[in-house]
Amino acid sequence: MKHRKTVIVGNWKMNTDVQSGINLAKQILDLSNNITNVEKIICPPFVSLTSIAKVLKGSSIQLGAQNVNPNENGAFTGEVSTAMLHGLVSHVVIGHSERRMFNDESSDQVAAKAVSLSKAGMNPILCVGEDLSIRKSGKAVNFIAKQLEASLKGFSNWNSLIIAYEPIWAIGTGEAATSAQAQEMAAVCRNIICNLTPDLGNSVRVLYGGSVNSKNVAKLLEQPDIDGALVGGASLNAQEFSNLIKLASSK
Ligand code: PEP
Repeated sequence: MKHRKTVIVGNWKMNTDVQSGINLAKQILDLSNNITNVEKIICPPFVSLTSIAKVLKGSSIQLGAQNVNPNENGAFTGEVSTAMLHGLVSHVVIGHSERRMFNDESSDQVAAKAVSLSKAGMNPILCVGEDLSIRKSGKAVNFIAKQLEASLKGFSNWNSLIIAYEPIWAIGTGEAATSAQAQEMAAVCRNIICNLTPDLGNSVRVLYGGSVNSKNVAKLLEQPDIDGALVGGASLNAQEFSNLIKLASSK
């Protein structure tokens, strides 16, 4: 029995418009609000956050954003700051491989986001992951250790942190990592955290992400260092996402 509470995060990415997002949030709420031994977080696009916050108010489902700009305010066209998200969301996904890839985000920038969120009292969901060529070259362990350390530079609010190990080759491909592969890398992440904060390292939740669905979630969650899942595609289907939450609740 793990002492860390299981957490299931739905990352909607750039999907849903405001109305379909409200509908999806209502369906997820209907199907899973009564499951309280799992922490549930949904991360819709920015434009939907205000409306979905109203849907989730007073419920057991928390709201997250998919990105943040660490600067307080100013000339950053198109960006959203921590202050703007404050009071609206409890969690923010940072360092997702799609942002590292398509927006050239560096681990230094991810670390600045983590620090800015923790100053504002919000919880970072910090993603790390290697691509297929790194995996094939046998250097994944080293790469993840370095990426995680670099993405946590200057960060110290360990109680607020959730880590998501998301191998790029498993995201959106339908080919999840095996539970052994996911466990190995979750343990690498935990070791890094335990080195940085010996007292609190074992309380930090480490999630796995990459083609998680209701068929593979149970096996992944059986692993000693995997405390939940970051779910992309399967979080856009209320029934599938709620099934996944139910399976997580019986672990
Ligand atoms: C993700 O968006 O972080 C993700 C893991 O996507 P998917 O579940 O679709 O692979």
